[in-house]
Amino acid sequence: MTNYNMEIEKVIKEIKKYDAKNIGLQFPEGLKTQSTTIADEIETKAQVNVIISGDPCFGACDVADSKMVDMVDLIVHYGHTPLPLKYKIPVIFIEAYSDIKINEILKKSLNSLEDYSRIAIATTTQHLQLLNEVKDFLEDNGKEIVVSSSKSTRKGQILGCNFSSIKDLGAEAYLFIGSGKFHPLGIYLFTKARVIAVNPYTSEISDIKDLADEILRIRFARIVKAKEVNTWGILISSKEGQYRFNLAKEIKKILEDEGKKAYLILVENINPDVLLPYINIEGFIVTACPRIAIDDSLMYKKPLITPQELEIVLDKRKWDDYQLDEIIFHEK
Ligand code: SF4
Repeated sequence: MTNYNMEIEKVIKEIKKYDAKNIGLQFPEGLKTQSTTIADEIETKAQVNVIISGDPCFGACDVADSKMVDMVDLIVHYGHTPLPLKYKIPVIFIEAYSDIKINEILKKSLNSLEDYSRIAIATTTQHLQLLNEVKDFLEDNGKEIVVSSSKSTRKGQILGCNFSSIKDLGAEAYLFIGSGKFHPLGIYLFTKARVIAVNPYTSEISDIKDLADEILRIRFARIVKAKEVNTWGILISSKEGQYRFNLAKEIKKILEDEGKKAYLILVENINPDVLLPYINIEGFIVTACPRIAIDDSLMYKKPLITPQELEIVLDKRKWDDYQLDEIIFHEK
């Protein structure tokens, strides 16, 4: 079983430092099962009231500060690293590193990397603490390792909406450590280099190219269908880090200049049910989390596309320049 370091002692220290009495706890979906245990521990050890945020949370773009501002003095946000955003109340971020071991799977990954000497490594929050081990191991096996960071990410970290840390590294191949296919897919689409994904939970090693081809086929089909759309809904997220109102307004203007009808729709959690009432809208553009259009694609009957895909629909971008959407986080 994988354990995650919830850093209770550090949390208690921070609570004391802020002299906080009411504490908000926020967890990503995968860690929510532990929320009541953590709440018990914090309430008992720090003698405070804990309020668990029960809403879905997929990133540091979605800290519950606005919702909890009148309830708590401090939020403990688990599972993500901070983004350059300003919050209404103090927030501490606990990465919740997993204790998973990767030495065996790393050895196996060498076969997939044997033709490459300059390799970039990348991962998600839960495995950031493994990067030094990965680097040392590959260097001991004769590889040159490159690893970089960005304003929104730590060294070697990528987000589903931000791949700045892997761009322009001049690597021949990329080794991604983590679960899920979206992040390595993004690396592949931004670099077009060989991307090997190592899943420490399943010990699966995969070359992302086949998956990328499959996803691109689906995206191509959506784009073709979207060319017939005359009435669009432009979805804006009310989540702090996903809120791109200016982009949505620009898109509306572009669509109107093309003779299309477009509506701006503010939504907190985008899902097929919230879009059902808009029967006259034939397709949607998501300015919220870039993963929604790609990861959840099969859940939507009408075309649901990214701003970059809309550019292809409108012949303002070539299919060969296909790119995932990214969010550039500016401090507010
Ligand atoms: S916008 Fe999406 S990918 Fe980016 S941090 Fe939020 S949930 Fe993650």
